[in-house]
Amino acid sequence: MTAAGRGMRWPRPLSLAGFKSSSGRTLVTNDAVKMHTELPGATRTLPPQKSFYLKTFGCQMNVYDSERMMEALASQGYAETENLELADLVILNTCHIREKAAEKVYSDLGRIRDIKIARQANGRDTIITVAGCVAQAEGAEIVRRQPAVDLVIGPQSYHRLGELMTRAKQERKAIIETEFTENAKFEVLAKARKRSTPSAFLTVQEGCDKFCTFCVVPYTRGQEFSRPTAEIVAEARKLVDAGASEITLLGQNVNAYHGAGDSGSTVSLAGLVRALAKIDGLARIRYMTSHPRDMDDDLIAAHAEIPQLMPYLHLPVQSGSDRMLEAMNRKHSAAEYLALIARVRAARPDIALSSDFIVGFPGETEEDIAQTLDLIRKTGFAQSFSFKYSPRPGTPAAGLGQQIPDGVKNERLQRVQGLLEEQQMGFNAGSLGQTMAVLIERVGRDTTQLVGRTPYLQLIHVTGPASLVGQIVDVTVTGFRQMSLTGQLSTDIAAA
Ligand code: SF4
Repeated sequence: MTAAGRGMRWPRPLSLAGFKSSSGRTLVTNDAVKMHTELPGATRTLPPQKSFYLKTFGCQMNVYDSERMMEALASQGYAETENLELADLVILNTCHIREKAAEKVYSDLGRIRDIKIARQANGRDTIITVAGCVAQAEGAEIVRRQPAVDLVIGPQSYHRLGELMTRAKQERKAIIETEFTENAKFEVLAKARKRSTPSAFLTVQEGCDKFCTFCVVPYTRGQEFSRPTAEIVAEARKLVDAGASEITLLGQNVNAYHGAGDSGSTVSLAGLVRALAKIDGLARIRYMTSHPRDMDDDLIAAHAEIPQLMPYLHLPVQSGSDRMLEAMNRKHSAAEYLALIARVRAARPDIALSSDFIVGFPGETEEDIAQTLDLIRKTGFAQSFSFKYSPRPGTPAAGLGQQIPDGVKNERLQRVQGLLEEQQMGFNAGSLGQTMAVLIERVGRDTTQLVGRTPYLQLIHVTGPASLVGQIVDVTVTGFRQMSLTGQLSTDIAAA
């Protein structure tokens, strides 16, 4: 699972302007809503609307879960607020993939506790909920470290959020719900799905059976679970009806997908992509994150055959050293990874490749890092994510000897990142002058600026009207940086 993801900002100060969040959701800006009645000059005061504040840490799967929780809360009469002081319910949807992320949760909880105390002094309750992988991994320890927490809820139980909050309120004690239950959450939460952005996430698989020695996912998300194909297709149809043109299928180990199909059959990820490609209006399909061991021939062939499947593949390798790969329990060699890349490129020569790298794994030598740099040179990545190894409690690697000093890790990371940045720059430079189909996802900071994605997942900025949001338009690339492109709309669209 990649750690690449979207974090959310800490809230703006009390003087929040406007009633809509950037996502278009209704925001609460006051305790009570005053509205005009049919009698001129008269107003009536409605009961205060309940409000929630939700902060998401970590990967896209957490973003997906957070969106589903928001929709479920909306259906229970809650409105989102970006102001912690106004929130009756605070949820931190946490990530345990890096040590710093978990510590950040505890530091946020301290600040939220202070707000809870201040609200209590004014007679207002606040329910503090910790969700996500830190909740799953640490359970009761969270309440021990921060007794103001009311509810600790693991990722398998989000569909029970309402019921558990009620219990926490009634029983006036912290509720810890971290059981790995039969996964009913998708069925329940997906029902509330009514809105979509042009590019949407859809979780199809959760959990992992690989047990890489550095990773907490098998412990926090449990065994691999794949949603039934029909359920995913139905959710994708809803998303397209609600305005999505692109869907990214998410899973901690997405290409291990093996969902139940019709009449007892099992459907692979390639089969799922083929089923989704039949949905009218679904122009683009992506998937992440994959494991090299699960990249089968059928999925590779799908990249050649299915036009909706975008030419982009995030395939983490973590290291170019067989010794490190074995210590990480990755179950493949560097040569096998390179051979796999050659097969993928034979099927789809223009595919943009991306990876994750861990630098400074216990026992890593100069020779190992040289082999990683060699693999990067031989592969050529369009973008990548690289991190210093940090021990996660409870994982086998955390107990290994030969931990690498931080200074050495920093220096090695700089070399790896330097090469990856050079490659990303080179990939973007190769786009200059090309005309590409760009999905316009949103309006940029300046209202005349639009932000979209190329088929290769490059971020691109163009000047144009907001009416193009949600459309796929031809754009000629006129400039590039390491992280983004700039382009011009094709003359037909610009003139329309
Ligand atoms: S494949 Fe390895 S890194 Fe990815 S989620 Fe599973 S255990 Fe973690």
